[in-house]
Amino acid sequence: MPQPVFRFAPSPNGLLHLGHALSAILNFDMARAAGGRLILRIEDIDATRCRPEYEAAIYEDLAWLGIEWEQPVRRQSEHLDEYRSVLAKLDALRLSFPSFESRTEISRMVADRQSHARWPHDPDGAPLYPGWARGMATEEREARIARGEPYAIRLDMIRAMEWAGPLRWSESGAGPRGESGESGEVAAEPAAWGDVILGRKETPTSYHLSVAIDDALQGVTHVVRGQDLFWSTSVHRVLQAVLDLPTPAYHHHRLILDADGRKLSKSMRATGLRELRADGATPGDIRAMIGV
Ligand code: GLU
Repeated sequence: MPQPVFRFAPSPNGLLHLGHALSAILNFDMARAAGGRLILRIEDIDATRCRPEYEAAIYEDLAWLGIEWEQPVRRQSEHLDEYRSVLAKLDALRLSFPSFESRTEISRMVADRQSHARWPHDPDGAPLYPGWARGMATEEREARIARGEPYAIRLDMIRAMEWAGPLRWSESGAGPRGESGESGEVAAEPAAWGDVILGRKETPTSYHLSVAIDDALQGVTHVVRGQDLFWSTSVHRVLQAVLDLPTPAYHHHRLILDADGRKLSKSMRATGLRELRADGATPGDIRAMIGV
C-alpha cells in the first residue's frame, strides 16, 4: 500500500484559532498513526485577503503546537498557470462557460425569480446561478471577452454530472451538521451547487478547482477538514471525475464553536492561538481545550 498522505491547507487571511488547531492536530496525529506524511499547503489565491505576515504566523503557530510538516510548502498563488491550463481543458471539453453578470445583476435576477417561488441556494447559502450564459453563442462570448468585460468561468454542472455519472465518497468523520453516524459511503449531491464558479477573469482558479487539482497533484490520500466543507466534497468529486483525478478518503471533523454556537472567525480574539499563548497557554492546554 502506498504511504498515506495527509494535508493541512489553511488560507493566510487571518491568524489561526482553535478551529485551525483542531484541524492541524487531527491531520498530524492521524498521519502519525497511519505511518503517513503530512504536507502543508498555503491556500492564498485570494490576493485581496491573504498577507505574508499571516503566512509567517501560520508556520510559527503550527511549530509552537508541535506540528511537523514536509518541505517545500506549496503556495497556490505560485501555480496560477497550472490552474489556467486545467480551465482551458474544461473549456475544450465544453464543461465550463464564461458568465458576464455582475453580483448585483445576479441578485436582481434571483429577486425576480423569488417573486414566484424560492430560488434554490447552494450549501454555502449563495443562490444558484440564475443566468443563461451557458447557451450564449460562441461569437458573443468571444466578442465580450475581447472587449475586456469581466467574467466568471462556471462549471456546466448538468453536463459535468452527465459526464461523471453518480458519485460517492468514503467518509470516516462527522456529517454535514457534525452528527456522527454519517460514516461510510456518502452519495455526492453536486446539483445542489449549480454552475459553481471555477475561476474569474483576474484569478484563473477558485477554492474548489485548486483544491481538487492540488490534492491530486500532491498525492493526497486523506483529506481531514472541518465539517463546514462537507458538501464541498460533492463539487470536488465531480471535478475529480471529469479531470480523471484520484479520489482521496475524507474525514470531516466537528467544528469548534463560540459560546453562542457560531463558527469561530479569524477576527475573534478570545480563541486565537496567539492570544492564548500570550496568556500563558501551553500546546497541551490547547489540546485539552479542543479535546484531542
Ligand atoms: N483553505 C481552506 C480553509 O482555510 C481549507 C480547504 C480544505 O481543507 O479543503 O478553510
